[in-house]
Amino acid sequence: MKSIPKSLFWAIVFAFVIIICTIVILLNKGDAKSAVIYQDNKIIKRIDNLYPDKTEHTTIKNDDGYNKIAWYDGKIWVEKADCKNQTCVNFGKLSSSGLSIICAPHKLTIVIEDSDSHADAVT
Ligand SMILES: [Zn+2]
Repeated sequence: MKSIPKSLFWAIVFAFVIIICTIVILLNKGDAKSAVIYQDNKIIKRIDNLYPDKTEHTTIKNDDGYNKIAWYDGKIWVEKADCKNQTCVNFGKLSSSGLSIICAPHKLTIVIEDSDSHADAVT
């Protein structure tokens, strides 16, 4: 194959990269986020919609106390807890998958997952 001009080659590569990036961003942007709450490494609650009309709550009770969890606008957080260190409350709002809120005294973990991975995990 005859070599194409270098500048044209790079222009094509560049355009290609931009297209791929745009697709990835659009796919990731999705509404499809859910949160999973684990206790003792077991799933105890799944929140399928992190975009309720107004802030929603649930309270997870355990032998040692409770964690009051709230979610809204794609974020989830521990609003109140009676654990000793309050790390979970001080963590703030979790909005991206890959991070997790951990309440070590209550053996509680909250993670956000994209619904694609969630389909895999459940079935
Ligand atoms: Zn805690």
